Amino acid sequence: MRQKIVAGNWKMNLDLNEGKELLINILDSDISDNTQCVIAPPYIHLSGFKQMLSHTKLSLGSQNCHQQDSGAYTGEVSAAMLKSVGVEYVILGHSERREYFNEDSLGISFKVNNVIKHGLRPIYCCGETLTQRKEGEHFETIRVQIKNGLFQLNEMELLNCVIAYEPVWAIGTGETASPEQAQEIHAFIRKTIAQEYGDMVADNISILYGGSVKPGNAVELFNCPDIDGGLIGGAALDAESFVAICNSF
Ligand code: PEP
Repeated sequence: MRQKIVAGNWKMNLDLNEGKELLINILDSDISDNTQCVIAPPYIHLSGFKQMLSHTKLSLGSQNCHQQDSGAYTGEVSAAMLKSVGVEYVILGHSERREYFNEDSLGISFKVNNVIKHGLRPIYCCGETLTQRKEGEHFETIRVQIKNGLFQLNEMELLNCVIAYEPVWAIGTGETASPEQAQEIHAFIRKTIAQEYGDMVADNISILYGGSVKPGNAVELFNCPDIDGGLIGGAALDAESFVAICNSF
């Protein structure tokens, strides 16, 4: 059985008091036992939030990390440090990191390796731009992102990864991929994995959809056979919306 996961990417939003208030409101709500919920706030909140999450079913995620364990990398945070404060998931290769920080899949593969080495779970993001989709390059774009970012891993390592398909044109735009468009790419990702690693790995890896997921479209998306949950941006900043999405399976 593939794990159902909903992860909230808070991005660079909410100061400490605002973040605590949102987290308290989420923790005060009923979230279904069959969904693994992950909260990924800014780095600075992680340690304090871990205390608030102890004895709850929610997991803590970070939005990025560096590929080295330590060293002279001013401003960076390592997977080893994230592990030491109780982080379990690390979002890697988000399209905003690819666009604004010039990250590419090969570079991200080193982060993936380091995150896995420390027993954390990468949430590896892939997705095409609008131009790539219009030019019919979306399948190849996704195939190369998956291959270059993840195919250095062995079977067991890949099974510890979560993949998030996030069409760039749907992130923060209010425009969602239709369930058919999303399902088509999710099935393609699973097929690409099956060709390299076999059906057991492909059938057991969780593939999340991200891009303007809201309570109003989550049920339809999560009903698709190859969609195992969501990576949520804007709607994760509102407790009621986030919890409704978590309960949409
Ligand atoms: C995201 O940034 O990963 C995302 C999916 O954002 P939104 O839900 O706001 O489109």
